[in-house]
Amino acid sequence: MSGHDARVTAIQEISNRPPMLVTKPDPLSKIWATDVFSLAAMEEALSKNAFKAVKKTVQTGAPLDDATADIVAAAMKDWAMARGVKFFSHIFYPMTNATAEKHDGFIITNPEGGAITEFTGSLLKKGEPDGSSFPNGSLRMTSAARGYTAWDPTSPAYIMHTSNGSTLMIPSVFMSWTGEALDKKIPLLRSNAAMNTAAQKVLSLMGETEIATLNSSCGAEQEYFLIDAKFADLRPDLMLTGRSLFGAKPAKGQQFDDHYFGAIPERVQVYMQDVEDKLYRLGIPAKTHHNEVAPGQFEIAPYFESANVASDHQQLLMTVLKITAKQHGFVCLLHEKPFAGVNGSGKHVNWSVGNATQGNLLDPGHTPEENLNFLLFCGAVIRGVHIFGPLLRAVIASAANDHRLGANEAPPAILSVYLGDQLEKVFNDIKEGKIVKTEKGGEMDLGLSQILNFERDPGDRNRTSPFAFTGNRFEFRAVGASQSVSGPLVAMNTMLADSLEWVGEKLAAQLSSGKTKADAVLGVLKELMQKHGNVVFGGNGYSPEWHRMAVEERGLKNIPNTAGALLEFNDPAVIHLFQKTGVLTPVELKSRFDVYAEQYINTIEMEAKLTASIATTSIYPAAISYLSTLAATTASMASMNIVLDAGVAKAVASNTNAMMSAVNTLQEALAQHDFDSTEAHMQFSADTLRDLMNKVRSYADTLETLISDELWPLPKYQEMLFIK
Ligand code: ADP
Ligand code: MG
Repeated sequence: MSGHDARVTAIQEISNRPPMLVTKPDPLSKIWATDVFSLAAMEEALSKNAFKAVKKTVQTGAPLDDATADIVAAAMKDWAMARGVKFFSHIFYPMTNATAEKHDGFIITNPEGGAITEFTGSLLKKGEPDGSSFPNGSLRMTSAARGYTAWDPTSPAYIMHTSNGSTLMIPSVFMSWTGEALDKKIPLLRSNAAMNTAAQKVLSLMGETEIATLNSSCGAEQEYFLIDAKFADLRPDLMLTGRSLFGAKPAKGQQFDDHYFGAIPERVQVYMQDVEDKLYRLGIPAKTHHNEVAPGQFEIAPYFESANVASDHQQLLMTVLKITAKQHGFVCLLHEKPFAGVNGSGKHVNWSVGNATQGNLLDPGHTPEENLNFLLFCGAVIRGVHIFGPLLRAVIASAANDHRLGANEAPPAILSVYLGDQLEKVFNDIKEGKIVKTEKGGEMDLGLSQILNFERDPGDRNRTSPFAFTGNRFEFRAVGASQSVSGPLVAMNTMLADSLEWVGEKLAAQLSSGKTKADAVLGVLKELMQKHGNVVFGGNGYSPEWHRMAVEERGLKNIPNTAGALLEFNDPAVIHLFQKTGVLTPVELKSRFDVYAEQYINTIEMEAKLTASIATTSIYPAAISYLSTLAATTASMASMNIVLDAGVAKAVASNTNAMMSAVNTLQEALAQHDFDSTEAHMQFSADTLRDLMNKVRSYADTLETLISDELWPLPKYQEMLFIK
C-alpha cells in the first residue's frame, strides 16, 4: 500500500467509524470513590480503635503499629476480594515520570493442595520488587539489586479494572536496600515535613497557640492532545517519541483563536465524560474540562487535594487519559510539544500550604495588608523563588519541555514571580517600610439590569509568568504536560521550608528587640523585599526586553535548555538546601542528576536515530519516486517537443540531496561516544544533535510542500489536528 493509500484509508476509516456506544452515565453519588479503600470504607470495615489509629496516620503522618497494619491488611483484602480482586500491587513512582507496579496474587496453597488467600500486615507494609532495572543513578549496582517498596497509608489504596481482572493498587514509596530514596514520593513526603517544621516555628512566633500539622496542596491542570489512532499508527515518530519529528505547518493552525474554549467535538466530549467517570470511581475529583489553544488540544483539571495524594492521583489521571483514549480509538499525547509551530502542552501546578487551624496561609483575604501570617508566607515564597529559581528551572527540565520553555508561546525559562497589581503594591510599599490600605477590585457593573453585579478580583491575571499568584495559591505554569508534579512540589516545599527558617530567625530577633508583632513583620519583610524583590515582575514575560532586563538588570538566570538546567542540581547551595532540610542527601541528589541527565541524552539520541531512519526509509523513497515520475513525464513530453518547467523537479532534487547530506552528518555525530563528562555529552546533544535534526527536518518539511500528496507517506498536520 503506498503512503497515499494508507493515509486515505485511515481517513476513510475515521469518517466511517461507528459512534461509540455510550451507556447512560450513573449519578455521581453512585460512583464516587467506589473503587477506593477510602477513610469512609475503612470506617465501615475496621474496629473503632483500628480506624482511629489509621485516621491519625492519614491526617498527621503519625506512625502506625504492626497490629493495626495486620487488621487493615485483612480488611483491605476482604474489601477488594468482594469486588472481584485476586491480585495486589505496590504501585510506586520511580525517578522516571512513569509509575511502576509488580502484581502478586492473594493466593497461597495449603498442604491439601487447596487454594486459600492471605494478606498480612507485613505483606501490606513491604514489597520487594527486583528493582535493579529502574534508573537509580549511581546508587545501586545491578549486583546489589535489592529494592523495597513500602506502603504509604496516607494515600488511599484503590482498584484498577481491566476487562477480565481487577487489581488492588497500594501506593508505596520505593527505596534501596541501604534506605536511599529511589522514587518521587519519599522526597515529597520529606519536603512536606520540612515545610511543616519551619512553618510551625513561624506561626508560634506569631502567637498562634493551636497549630495543626501543615500540609501542601496541589491542583494540577493537565493539557493534552488527542489524535486518531489510525493516524498515529502511521507515524512512527509519534508512537516512539511522543512527538512529530517531521511535519510542515498547516495552512490553518491556531491563528484564528477559534479553538480555545470552543465547542468540544462530540467524540471528544464522549471521551472526556468516560475519563471523568473512571476518575470519579477512583476518587479523583475531576472538575473542569475545555478545549485548549491549539486544534486537537484539551485540558482537564481536578479539584485540588493534599500534595501527596494529588501527586499520586495526577499519575493515575495520566494513565486513565491514555487507557481511555485507546478504547475510544484515540491516542492521547502528553508530550510537551507534539507538533512544532503549534501550542505546546503544560501542566500548571497550583500550590498552597495550610492546615486545619490557620487555614490556607496563602489566602490574603480582603485586606492582605492586615493579614500578617499571609504576608510572611507569601514573602517567604518570593525569597524562595529568588534564591532557588534555577532549582525550579531544573526540576522541570526535560528534552521535551525544552521545546516549550523559552519558545514564544510558553512561560519563559526565567523564573520570576507575578503577584498582581494589589499585592505587588503591598510588597513594594513594604519595601519602602510602610503598610498602606489597598483597594478592593470594586464592583463589576455592566449597566445591564438582567446581569447580576459581582465583585471584581483585586488583580488581573498574567499568562506570561512562569510563577504567578492567583488569588489564594501560586501557579507554577512552566511544568511540562508529561511530568510528575512531585519534582516541582518538592522544590517548592523545600525552598519554602528554607525561607520560613530564615523568616523565623529574623522574626525572633525583631520580636526580642521589643517591637510589636506588626512592626516586627514589617521589619522582616522590608529586609526580605530589599534583598529579593528583584524577582517580582508584572510585565510581559515573553518580551525580548524582559529577557534582557531580567538577566542584565535583575541578575536572574535564563537557562534555555536541560543541559544547562540540570547542572543546578550540583550547585553547592542546592546540595546544602536539600541536606539541611532532610529532603535529599547529597548522594540521593547526585543520583537524580545522573538519572535525569541520562534520560535527556537517551531521549535526544533516540529522536536523532529515528529522524535519520524516517528521512532515509520513508521520505527519501517518496522523493525519488516523485522525481522518477517527473523525469519520465518530462522526457516523454520532450519527445513531443513540449517543454515542462523543471522548477519543482529541481527543488525536490536539491532538497533531497541536502536532506540526505544532513542525515549523513547526523549519523556521523551519532557515532561519537567519547565524551569527557556527562555534562559535555548533554551539551553535545543540546547543540549538535538537536541542530542537525532540525536541519534534516527543515529539508524534509520543504519536501512535504513539494511532493505529490499521493506519495507522501506520513499523515499531515492538518489531518492529525483537524480530523476527528
Ligand atoms: P484556572 O483559572 O487557572 O484555569 P481553575 O479554576 O481551573 O483555574 O483551577 C486551577 C486549579 O487550581 C484547580 O485544580 C483548583 O482546584 C486549584 N486550586 C484552587 N485553589 C487552590 C489552592 N488553595 N491550593 C491549590 N490549588 C488550588
Ligand atoms: Mg490555571
